[in-house]
Amino acid sequence: MTAHELFDKLNRKEISPRDIITSLQDRIRQIDPKVKAYVRLSDSLHQTPILSGIPISIKDNICTEGYNTECCSKILAGFKPPYDATVITKLKEAGATVLDVKTNMDEFAFGSSTENSCFGPSRNPWNLECVPGGSSGGSAAAVAADEAIWALGSDTGGSIRQPASFCGVVGLKPTYGRVSRYGLIAFASSLDQIGPITKDVRDCAILMNIISGFDAHDSTSVDLKVPDYTKGLVNDIKGIKIGIPKEYFVEGMDAEVKTIVQEAVHKLKDLGADLKEVTLPHTEYAVSVYYIVATAEASSNLSRFDGVQYGFRAKSAKSKNLIDMYESTRGNGFGEEAKRRIILGTFALSHGYYDAYYLRALKVRTLIKEDFDKVFKDFDCIVTPTSPTPAFKIGEKIKDPLKMYLSDIYTISANLAGIPAISIPCGFTKKRLPVGLQILAKAFNEEMLFRAAYTYEQNTPWHLEKPKIE
Ligand code: GLN
Repeated sequence: MTAHELFDKLNRKEISPRDIITSLQDRIRQIDPKVKAYVRLSDSLHQTPILSGIPISIKDNICTEGYNTECCSKILAGFKPPYDATVITKLKEAGATVLDVKTNMDEFAFGSSTENSCFGPSRNPWNLECVPGGSSGGSAAAVAADEAIWALGSDTGGSIRQPASFCGVVGLKPTYGRVSRYGLIAFASSLDQIGPITKDVRDCAILMNIISGFDAHDSTSVDLKVPDYTKGLVNDIKGIKIGIPKEYFVEGMDAEVKTIVQEAVHKLKDLGADLKEVTLPHTEYAVSVYYIVATAEASSNLSRFDGVQYGFRAKSAKSKNLIDMYESTRGNGFGEEAKRRIILGTFALSHGYYDAYYLRALKVRTLIKEDFDKVFKDFDCIVTPTSPTPAFKIGEKIKDPLKMYLSDIYTISANLAGIPAISIPCGFTKKRLPVGLQILAKAFNEEMLFRAAYTYEQNTPWHLEKPKIE
């Protein structure tokens, strides 16, 4: 069931919060050995204090007081934060039961498949041989497999939307500054946002009502009134102006995804939206810009993991001095992709290359943002595919980082521009893998996303389909 269906049952006293948590725990114990959406399952799932509301599953990079938060990295092994992230505090205030098990992710959110987790990959509930997407693959797989009612993920370049698309659920990256990142372990601070992964658009709006808003602990959070997002759930998009960027329907995209997304676009037209082709001319630079900016910021953010303050310290017999201890801790504690990113980012920021790479990337980032500003002068939203392909096989792209990086081609621009974007289910391939539709709007206009997404959802059957997990 969705969270809003459960709220109704709780209000009518047909079930108790304990019933919900017990059945959820049973489901997790039964299904998770196949899906592997959660990590460290054997030593948790019993100490959760039950509050009055709905249980929620949390990605392993969002701090939960007293519960391990390791970013699925060996370097944070055993780390129990002494405080809750602001989103967790808000959830608890709203009565949500925060599960003591966390969802799987690519190490430090570096990846698009969850294969970079030190615990091994999660599996796509629609086909256990496929990846669930990433980096919030555990959260998306858990929601799709009914191992979670709803979940939180984080999105730096698509990590909420792409796994939502691969798993056939709803995922929203809010506007930069809408949701506090206090207590989110930083990947790339100018791009990161926490957001909901849910079974339908209504749950997404309810969760946004809970987690949004200004927070004095996060200097990038914006002091703007948060609307009641459930008011945006109107089943009507007549006259809404939707732009379809021509740069997003080009070669390299899977033919089935293309057809399915084009059908979804026609559906929006049938529902009364006013559609026109638009141009976002700097789209072709987005992946390059992102992988300079994101790795530069990651290399800086990850410098704090040194074996002194948190988690793991290498017990190397060779540890002769402090530098040696740092080196063996970082050398043993970080996985391959984390090391690749630290090296890339350090390179881009180093003397002599800073101007050529980092500074230039920032300038092109501004051009990408201006492309969106121009379109949003005349349009209410933009519609695109979420990902160029459906879920791919485990192992298919892991040896080829460039191929993996290209999975984010449609999602990263929203992070570079700071605008909100949602992915909703829009159909299935012949092999029954879900396909996602992405809707983008201007900064702080999540209401428009909810309106367009809700109208599409209420007039299509996709969100009601469930995977058969065998
Ligand atoms: N897949 C992208 C990356 O590897 C985005 C990850 C994310 O949004 N955290 O950086």
